[in-house]
Amino acid sequence: MSIIEENSVASVHYTGTLPESGEVFDTSEGRDPLAFLVGHQQMIPGFEQELIGAAKGERRTFTLEPERAYGERIPEAVQQIPAGMFGDIAPEPGMTLMSDVGPFNVVSVEDDVVTVDFNHKLAGQTLQFSVEVVDVRPATDEELEHGHAHGPGGVNH
Ligand code: ZN
Repeated sequence: MSIIEENSVASVHYTGTLPESGEVFDTSEGRDPLAFLVGHQQMIPGFEQELIGAAKGERRTFTLEPERAYGERIPEAVQQIPAGMFGDIAPEPGMTLMSDVGPFNVVSVEDDVVTVDFNHKLAGQTLQFSVEVVDVRPATDEELEHGHAHGPGGVNH
């Protein structure tokens, strides 16, 4: 029977909660299970580490400190940008936008100054996951070449 190890494709149902508030920040409930290629930086580090050795049908619950999740918040990642830099887009607080260096969140807009935050929304947070392993299989050569899982729950192309 296969277990989750480097270069396997794992399909999982998961629910992520913030342990302090109990808020669910992400879940695969109501969707296809998530499929990912293990050992290729597709997932946050602790998520994979905690699932190594798990078999199909197994459930695991674990808590990840920020360093094994989305990292600590970096104060310098909060920046002020002139509104004119946004072109046709009217930035509003709460928006997530894309830039050349990755996604960022709009924190506030005052006059012509937009405060943005390049930290991941979950940076600095301790996260709790409850995971059920739906399937485990070895990756195909093509998946290893691409660095991601194909098929339902993975990349379709
Ligand atoms: Zn691919």
